Amino acid sequence: MSKNIFILLLILTKTNLYAADKLSESIFAKNKIKVNGFNEQQKKITIETFQKIYNINPQKLKVNNKIYNEYSNFEKLFQFKINGPNLLHWMLKRMKSLNYVNTWTVATNDGAGNISIGDEFFISTELEKMYILIHEARHSDYGGFTHVPCPDNFPFISVGQPEFVLKSAPGCDKTTTGSYAYQAAFLYEVFAYQLFENYTEAGYLYNSTVSRILPLHDYESNKVYSDENISFIFNKKNEIIKKLNNFQDIYFFKIWETENAIAYSSEKNEGARYTMIFYKNEKDAIISYKAKANRTQAVFMIAGIVVFCPYGDNKSLFKKLYSILAGMGVALK
Ligand SMILES: [Zn+2]
Repeated sequence: MSKNIFILLLILTKTNLYAADKLSESIFAKNKIKVNGFNEQQKKITIETFQKIYNINPQKLKVNNKIYNEYSNFEKLFQFKINGPNLLHWMLKRMKSLNYVNTWTVATNDGAGNISIGDEFFISTELEKMYILIHEARHSDYGGFTHVPCPDNFPFISVGQPEFVLKSAPGCDKTTTGSYAYQAAFLYEVFAYQLFENYTEAGYLYNSTVSRILPLHDYESNKVYSDENISFIFNKKNEIIKKLNNFQDIYFFKIWETENAIAYSSEKNEGARYTMIFYKNEKDAIISYKAKANRTQAVFMIAGIVVFCPYGDNKSLFKKLYSILAGMGVALK
């Protein structure tokens, strides 16, 4: 009996402590986060969002374990089981400043934790606000996990921004460990534990989010192989480069050469240039393509040519290269 009372007291104490953790404006200073341009209401909304995350306290799974293990990626990505205090700590660690910027964008991160937040954020639903901040926080890791263009044939819509056409727009991820993966992982936990009343919204948003993680799908329209003799294309490299150099403001020059491959780079600055490698045989090209396919930049392979695109590239080069090769009689399939 006394043991039971002890346990009851322990539970009550824990619950009280939990309820007492009411976050205030000091959370910004405590975590060395500069807040620029927010009015009182915007600060309040942000603190309320932090509070909702802090209060996450999963109880019982509402899907069976087997299904949960099949879909849950949270622990693998975040390195802890979902719980409010750890999740909030994870986010705050990745925020250097929160800046009100009145643009069409909901939120952006410069890759170093300086997060810009627009009007759209403050009128989003509570669930959206939570996953937006988690998404932006992930952009602070390892160079930012910059988005890549969604495929030209991308069939999905942007639920949050109905006016936004995702086809060819930089709203997808080339990696399964970028911002959309973290966003999706969070949404799945909300769904599986029914953490909030609107857990069905989390389910729909989860589906919409995983659509942006390209390696999970077969939407890569740019993975084109050819049954032509690859060495024919290799021997035509000078002609292909000449044709490409007549295109827009791109100028390709040779950067290295081996027995089996030759690489060119476009002359723009480091972050905005293409690298194009011609391979003598398709096997080497595929190895090279696969080794680079997990980069955050778009990488495509066409008829033994592997191309690394600059961040945010809209694949205009892919289309040009495709038409040059087709014009030379290469049967692309
Ligand atoms: Zn993003």
